Amino acid sequence: MSAPSYKIIDHVYDTVVVGAGGSGLRATMGAAEAGLKTACITKVFPTRSHTVAAQGGIAASLKNNTPDHWTWHMYDTVKGSDWLGDQDAIEYMVREAPAAVYELEHAGVPFSRNADGTIYQRPFGGHMQNMGEGPPVQRTCAAADRTGHAMLHALYQQSLKYAADFFIEYFAIDLIMDGGKCVGVIALCMDDGSIHRFRSQSVVLATGGYGRCYFTATSAHTCTGDGGGMVMRAGLPLQDMEFVQFHPTGIYGAGVLITEGARGEGGYLTNSEGERFMERYAPSAKDLASRDVVSRSMALEIREGRGVGPHKDHIFLHLDHIDSKVLGERLPGITESGKIFAGVDLTRQPLPVVPTVHYNMGGIPCDYNGRVMTIGPDGDPETVVPGLFAVGEAACVSVHGANRLGSNSLIDLVVFGRATGLYLKDNVKPGAAQPELPKDSADMALTRLDHFRNANGSTSTAEIRTEMQRTMSLHAAVFRNDELMAEGKDKLTQTYAKMQDIKIADRGLIWNSDLVETMELDNLISQASVTLHGAHNRKESRGAHAHEDFPNRNDADWMKHTVAWFDGWGGKGGDIRIDYRPVHEFTLTDDIEYIKPKARVY
Ligand SMILES: Cc1cc2nc3c(=O)[nH]c(=O)nc-3n(C[C@H](O)[C@H](O)[C@H](O)COP(=O)(O)OP(=O)(O)OC[C@H]3O[C@@H](n4cnc5c(N)ncnc54)[C@H](O)[C@@H]3O)c2cc1C
Repeated sequence: MSAPSYKIIDHVYDTVVVGAGGSGLRATMGAAEAGLKTACITKVFPTRSHTVAAQGGIAASLKNNTPDHWTWHMYDTVKGSDWLGDQDAIEYMVREAPAAVYELEHAGVPFSRNADGTIYQRPFGGHMQNMGEGPPVQRTCAAADRTGHAMLHALYQQSLKYAADFFIEYFAIDLIMDGGKCVGVIALCMDDGSIHRFRSQSVVLATGGYGRCYFTATSAHTCTGDGGGMVMRAGLPLQDMEFVQFHPTGIYGAGVLITEGARGEGGYLTNSEGERFMERYAPSAKDLASRDVVSRSMALEIREGRGVGPHKDHIFLHLDHIDSKVLGERLPGITESGKIFAGVDLTRQPLPVVPTVHYNMGGIPCDYNGRVMTIGPDGDPETVVPGLFAVGEAACVSVHGANRLGSNSLIDLVVFGRATGLYLKDNVKPGAAQPELPKDSADMALTRLDHFRNANGSTSTAEIRTEMQRTMSLHAAVFRNDELMAEGKDKLTQTYAKMQDIKIADRGLIWNSDLVETMELDNLISQASVTLHGAHNRKESRGAHAHEDFPNRNDADWMKHTVAWFDGWGGKGGDIRIDYRPVHEFTLTDDIEYIKPKARVY
């Protein structure tokens, strides 16, 4: 097929960052500050990125409200990850965390305060004192329940201070690869329909998660995992995609998030008998056990007939015992959400909640410098993909392993966004001459764009998307079993086949949301497929992956990262290949020893 002819506008940069959420902005800031000619491409206005919705806060061992230590934060993160996290990267994150929070404070984030003026910290699930032995620690720094909003505004203001060029409402379509090296990216300016080719010494993917492959999710409709889709079309794998986090408290029916900070401030869950059932499942941490544990307990209560409501299909979250002044000060946003999305006055009534898809632990494999990794032709699992970097929820460093602790994502964004900026500063020469791009540099992106733009089949994008979302919600839920997942895989294969017969109505290029949503769906469905295949392949239970036929963790066979390739684009049927990378069983420095696996109880 010869490539369709579109007029292309060319740009040359030292660094191109795709994404302007917390991680993308922090990387953009760092690269620009280092004197690199930096572009940031984003499909939504920077302060509308999903990071804006983060409520509860950002974890760092500041010890303002309780004793704390970075080694305790490390222990909790390793245990939370169910020993699938890489401990060198975890050590890097928790040690850099306090400095990263102070940096945000100085950048203008209006953190909530203690009476003595220090940053207020609240308890969060799975964060404990004294290497898991003590009571809950107060480690999560918060700006009321609007922490992400405050962070994003501060980071955007700061990055405007440096000379980064923002390309806002540009949709990145595909990477430009040359002999295994990333040399740029192709994007569509949604406003005027023009095509842009960015040649760059380095490309940073900061495109966020892919929660929207499920029917109900707390994440924004823009969370379509475009970076992961681009990476798989470039012939590279994604890692640990079977680990999808369900947040215990999405508002029943709406999916809108109620922060874990609500339980941090004293909220608790009850079943139809009014019982505080978490006391049975997690005797010491109770409602503040980690998310996978609480979500599974809720699902079991519902399954055993103790759910609330006419269909006995949800659970109550109580905040009605908390002083309304405290609710007003510390949880104003969720008080409003309760009213709008459930018609409930939190000061007097319990809120109907249900476990809801929230976060992707899996993503683009990379190290703590943001460098993207793959398995090389010689089988080396630590092979670097030159020129390509990943940060934020799109990446899998892996610090969250099989289950992320609440408030550990926001800290991941800024710590690794900054680390990537530092790596680029040391390794990219400003203005260095770049080789000519390959002749076919825009072919894949434009052929794909043109194919969907003129698609004249019989099934609409919305129909295919809904089918995929329903399959994922049913077949890759909190609990999974062999039969259910095998059936789900078949259904997804059939749904994927319909992509060949897709119909879109708008043939234009200007604000063609039909076309953009179709490219997003194409990104989502490849990731939904590797999620379900990875889940079916993993014959154990670990973190968020609760396999009913294999209820125990199996370290001997499965303490390893899944990496999966998807061979889909260009009329191929979407074949999936699975391989493994070893978990890093070592720390970064001699200051702490490798934390050995043990049973995970809260
Ligand atoms: C409701 C909610 C509450 C949360 N609360 C917390 C919390 O309290 N604490 C915590 O630690 N974590 C929380 N999380 C998780 C955390 O907020 C996210 O994991 C994190 O914000 C993701 O940031 P990011 O930088 O990776 O990407 P995002 O903020 O999702 O941004 C993605 C960026 O990529 C751009 N982009 C994507 N695709 C393309 C494309 N094709 N072309 C161009 N640009 C593109 C978008 O425009 C956007 O700028 C919460 C998540 C949700 C959904």
